[in-house]
Amino acid sequence: MSQAKVLGIIGGGQLGSMLCQAAKKVNIKTVIYCDDKNAPAQNFSDQFINSSYENINKINEFSNLVDVVTFEFENIPVPTLEIIKKIKPVYPDPQVNFIIQNRSREKDFINKLGIKTVNYKNINSAEDLNQADQLVPGILKTTTLGYDGKGQVVINETDDLKKISFENEYILEEKIKLNKEISVIVTRYQNGECVLYDPIENIHHDQILDTSTVPAKVDGDIIRLSKDYAKTLATKLNYIGTMCVEYFINDQKELLVNEIAPRVHNSGHLTINAYNISQFESHVRAVCNLEKIEPKLKINAQMKNIIGEDIFKYREQKFKSNEYFFDYLKTEAKPKRKMGHLTTTQD
Ligand code: ADP
Ligand code: MG
Repeated sequence: MSQAKVLGIIGGGQLGSMLCQAAKKVNIKTVIYCDDKNAPAQNFSDQFINSSYENINKINEFSNLVDVVTFEFENIPVPTLEIIKKIKPVYPDPQVNFIIQNRSREKDFINKLGIKTVNYKNINSAEDLNQADQLVPGILKTTTLGYDGKGQVVINETDDLKKISFENEYILEEKIKLNKEISVIVTRYQNGECVLYDPIENIHHDQILDTSTVPAKVDGDIIRLSKDYAKTLATKLNYIGTMCVEYFINDQKELLVNEIAPRVHNSGHLTINAYNISQFESHVRAVCNLEKIEPKLKINAQMKNIIGEDIFKYREQKFKSNEYFFDYLKTEAKPKRKMGHLTTTQD
């Protein structure tokens, strides 16, 4: 494919906003398509279309305005992406979403490559729930549509399993003791070449990301292995663009894949200030087929997420020259909602 000039982005949250800003930097025009009329990314895009993801006429109109399409969240209906794909290239390919939108399919895929995850069992019937004692204490997760800990229940004892009425397909994961959580951002270009960012160390509160720090304080073996796995996963998915692999390090210091995010990722926001090239610009470059740039860490950094009403005090605050405040410009501050972030570089 030749270089794209107009990038279509499905979804209009903060990731969409940051993708638009990165696109502007490399002279790419953006069109956002989002089902939320208040989507913050419209503040940064060249054009904004507000309609449902099932409105085929609007989806067609959007596809005809752009050269290439990407997305900022993974739960767009796969049939919608397939319709767009008939008109314009979609990166990453919708097939990636088909695998990753479903936690069971995703974990099966990872394990088939010989890459370890926590022990888990796919729960496809009430009977499966009765035969899952060996994974208790565990975490029962809906196979689809969970994020920021939504759709998850901790199962402390076997009796808790009996209380669950089987309504959805689930995955039951062994609840492991975490030594650390890290993530690796990888961007794969259209010629198959990958660039990798250094592992980022993540701390979650209430299952929501609280802080991310680069570089992660982990052994050299973990650094190498986490980057190798990220490259293998991107390659085996035939992925184009930026994705993130979230890892657990268990109390035996083993590296396990938690999940893959087929998009730019919250833990990678610090790349804007800490690297010569952000995860967003890498994504734009890969999907628009621009020249590859190798990411290099310029300065150590930490990012803190700003959740819910905490945003109001940040909006009043003055910042030091090594503090970078990002306000996502959301109209409502709901509890647990990501409203902004603050990156502090170690000057
Ligand atoms: P989400 O899609 O909501 O990000 P995750 O599966 O990544 O879901 O879970 C969110 C967080 O919950 C993880 O980052 C981790 O801190 C904790 N967690 C999830 N699964 C497990 C598990 N099997 N064992 C221990 N902690 C877990
Ligand atoms: Mg997660």
